[in-house]
Amino acid sequence: MDFKPSPTQQKRVAQAHQFGLQEAAPYAAKWDQEEHIPRTQIQKYADAGFFGLTIPTEYGGHGLSALDAVLVIEEIARHCGISGRLIVDHNFGAIITILNFGTEAQRRRVLPTICTGTTLMSIGMTEPDAGSALTDLTTSAIADGDDFILNGKKHWITGAGEREYTLVYARFGNVPGPKGIGAILVQQGMAGFNYGGRIPSLGVRGVQEGILEFDNVRVPKQNVVVPAGSAFGNLMSAYNGQRVGAAAVALGIAQGAFDFAKSYADERKQFGKRITDFQTTQFKLADMAIDLEAARYLVYRAASNAQAAITDRFESSVAKVYASEMALRVTNEAIQLCGAEGYGRHLPLERMYRDARCFMLAGGSAEMQRLGIATVVLKRPLPQH
Ligand SMILES: Cc1cc2nc3c(=O)[nH]c(=O)nc-3n(C[C@H](O)[C@H](O)[C@H](O)COP(=O)(O)OP(=O)(O)OC[C@H]3O[C@@H](n4cnc5c(N)ncnc54)[C@H](O)[C@@H]3O)c2cc1C
Repeated sequence: MDFKPSPTQQKRVAQAHQFGLQEAAPYAAKWDQEEHIPRTQIQKYADAGFFGLTIPTEYGGHGLSALDAVLVIEEIARHCGISGRLIVDHNFGAIITILNFGTEAQRRRVLPTICTGTTLMSIGMTEPDAGSALTDLTTSAIADGDDFILNGKKHWITGAGEREYTLVYARFGNVPGPKGIGAILVQQGMAGFNYGGRIPSLGVRGVQEGILEFDNVRVPKQNVVVPAGSAFGNLMSAYNGQRVGAAAVALGIAQGAFDFAKSYADERKQFGKRITDFQTTQFKLADMAIDLEAARYLVYRAASNAQAAITDRFESSVAKVYASEMALRVTNEAIQLCGAEGYGRHLPLERMYRDARCFMLAGGSAEMQRLGIATVVLKRPLPQH
């Protein structure tokens, strides 16, 4: 067990830190307020080499590990949660599904353009009547000659209406249950593939959450990434990394809030002393540091044990639950440490608090992660599944 990043990893983190300071931190409040991050900015992340870190070089990526990606994501999220989330989507989730389970032609067609930022990727699982109960999804894919015809609706899709590709989870041939579910790649501009509007949300506002509608969308069969049958487990295992990525963003946001609150508290004077001279404040900072460290090592462990950026389900869920709940505790405490100022919109803490809130839902709710953890602890499938 090695608890220390390698010199190369430390150098990459230092570069990400510098990049975050110059390119993300000064604009994070503006993107939150405008609820939009410009595509030119997203391109900067790709140009800096932050997309496709986990993708092998033969597909245009950097051939690095899940841990390398997580270290960069955490560092960027310290400065800007929105940016961290964007980097997650272009290192984990759908692109790892394509890498591990797609066809060679799909890998060669899609992954290089993701790595350069020329195209961006969404993942379309959640439906109005199938959230936690994903296996109840009803978006249908019916074979017709060389194509599948897609009908249905997805909501809460990150990047909806903005990204070139969406990996859509659909029910093939009306087969019920998980056996009927596969994933197919849908491209912006396909006839009948419509953007159904934005869903305004509490945090990470610079990245759009929205609705996608499929009205007889004709998608070539060659776009099937994971066929239905017995591959639902593959779909879910490829998604585990996304949870670790989300946990790394939560960790970064919490670290950013901690750093800010610590500096503030070390300067703020009341009763003629710095407030960090009071033991209550010292204990608060110590507890926040303990919480951060515990989350950090759970996130790093899950990432370190990944194979081809596929992380273990148990380790991913443990890391995500802990990091997302920790981020809420730490950002909340950071506001408290800064008093009314911490609550003000002129400081970044209220944004960090709002941003941190999404990770107990996005990527699967904390309750569903706990259910998954319980199946491992009890060594048996549970009725909710
Ligand atoms: C910011 C954000 C980004 C997102 N991005 C995407 C995306 O890009 N792509 C995508 O497909 N989806 C995305 N989602 C959707 C997300 O995956 C779902 O919100 C999540 O899976 C929960 O589904 P739901 O919202 O329908 O809640 P529901 O399933 O309706 O659950 C409501 C509550 O009931 C609890 N619950 C449900 N079933 C059980 C049970 N068996 N036992 C105990 N408790 C239970 C849940 O934990 C939750 O607290 C995003 C969500 C958010 C908030």
